[in-house]
Amino acid sequence: MQFDILTLFPDMFSAVLGDSIIGRAQENGIVSVNTINIRDFSKDKHNKVDDTPYSGGGGMLMMPQPIYDAYESIAGECQEKPYTVYMSPQGKVFNQNTAKRISKLHRLVILCGHYEGVDQRVLDKIVDEEISIGDFVLTGGEIPAMAVIDAVCRLIPGVLSGENSYQNESHYSGLLEYPQYTRPPEFMGEKIPDILISGHHANIEKWKREQSLLNTLTKRPDMLQNADLTDEDRQFLNNITK
Ligand code: SAM
Repeated sequence: MQFDILTLFPDMFSAVLGDSIIGRAQENGIVSVNTINIRDFSKDKHNKVDDTPYSGGGGMLMMPQPIYDAYESIAGECQEKPYTVYMSPQGKVFNQNTAKRISKLHRLVILCGHYEGVDQRVLDKIVDEEISIGDFVLTGGEIPAMAVIDAVCRLIPGVLSGENSYQNESHYSGLLEYPQYTRPPEFMGEKIPDILISGHHANIEKWKREQSLLNTLTKRPDMLQNADLTDEDRQFLNNITK
């Protein structure tokens, strides 16, 4: 999958996405993260990319022309309009389902705003969807874009070692993950649950499911309303909430 990021701060991306799992996925050619510096498309002799908003109120707004030309430098060579998202606190809040949906695309253009935001006219021309990473305001769309790219990349086949790596994880199936343990078997007097070294796979799976339900009930009970629960799950939850 190819990500084309329209940004005023391209160096931020290599620093974060160039290492670890996403860095390896790029080296292996599974994903490609291409940054386009919006400033390179300024027609101003001082490379200006922002100006004061007509509505007043202070701050600077990103001008439409450099963004549109930066976008056209990619879109102009595509046969179909590339799906384009604008990272924005006004967008729908990003979640695992959005990550799954986006991971099916071959190409994604991400526009990162900065300062007071972006002139509405260029958003109207190029943006298919606005995505927020939460109900708070950051200084720029770069950190939100990196969060989206990271969450999407780990769902692309070949990026993690196996599908199990993410299918059991929190949010994938609407529940939080069960608690996990590694060596040593005893740490500061606390032992790992005996079931995990019992060798009884069916019982271990049952324990994981129940712990997952318990974790969700304790930390995010709101999620249980939309989770895909079996009769056995409901029975378990009824028993512990009695
Ligand atoms: N004036 C804008 C408003 O009130 O909606 C906020 C602009 S914000 C200071 C600057 C840029 O940061 C935005 O254009 C957007 O790209 C990004 N940004 C800020 N908060 C965000 C969030 N919660 N999710 C995604 N992007 C965000």
